[in-house]
Amino acid sequence: MTQAENRPVFPVDLSEQVALVTGASRGIGREVAVQLARCGARVACVARNQQLLEELVRQIENEGGQAACWSVDVTDSEQVNQVVDEVLQRWQRLDILVNNAGITRDTLLPRMQDEQWDEVIATNLRGTFLFTRAATRPMMGQRYGRIINISSVSGLRGNKGQSNYSASKAGVIGFTRSAAMELAGRKITVNAVAPGFIETDMTAALGDVFKSEVKKRIPAKRLGQVEDVAACVLFLASPAAGYITGQTIAVDGGLGVGL
Ligand code: NAP
Repeated sequence: MTQAENRPVFPVDLSEQVALVTGASRGIGREVAVQLARCGARVACVARNQQLLEELVRQIENEGGQAACWSVDVTDSEQVNQVVDEVLQRWQRLDILVNNAGITRDTLLPRMQDEQWDEVIATNLRGTFLFTRAATRPMMGQRYGRIINISSVSGLRGNKGQSNYSASKAGVIGFTRSAAMELAGRKITVNAVAPGFIETDMTAALGDVFKSEVKKRIPAKRLGQVEDVAACVLFLASPAAGYITGQTIAVDGGLGVGL
């Protein structure tokens, strides 16, 4: 890879900082982990698929960055507390937390099974709560922290077939605002990013016809890329964003404007 290709999408200096990214094995989380490392952060990469995580760590190290990985289910309280302890043992601090792990189990409301509701709420909302609670302990001690929760446009305006997912992502926004109020005095900011349609495994199954219909509704006339979301995360993770907290920033090519 050339030097130019290794440049971060939004240049911020995060050297000496430690970041933890959930759902780092694929998609948006993977890109966020790569970009944080390009800015100089040491990155703890968390998801369940150990093989994909190890490939990511190798890529970051090949680019000259520092990373380590943990195979963790974000819904498991004990595993979450343990990984945060191990990150602290390894790197002595935790500055940036990106709660990105998320799933969909789409179906119309009358057909929705209890498990489809519970799994989505557990991963998207409980996972965000568990990691935030675990990370605030060291961040409060440091009197510094940046927490970025990945919500969704579905959490802002709802979506047919996604009542479980929309509820979880709206929950993330409410959680973000309350946590921001509690933690602002300790110089910890908590913000949410609400992506629109981003090209990842999550949206791959939607099919080309559906995608071209969606594109027509997006003022920017293109689907989002993982780099679009990562750029916003880097900004919110930067020391310069210290007076922004409790906010939700849509990264959606204008999809939600006027709705
Ligand atoms: P993706 O490609 O499907 O990746 C999801 C990631 O979450 C994977 O790394 C997966 O890793 C991890 N994950 C899922 N369940 C987990 C669990 N129980 N414990 C630990 N890790 C878990 O999805 P994506 O499109 O990158 O989405 C990332 C985030 O952005 C999600 O929160 C999603 O809701 C949000 N978002 C995406 C879009 C979009 O258009 N793509 C739009 C709005 C919001 P393992 O399978 O290895 O565990």
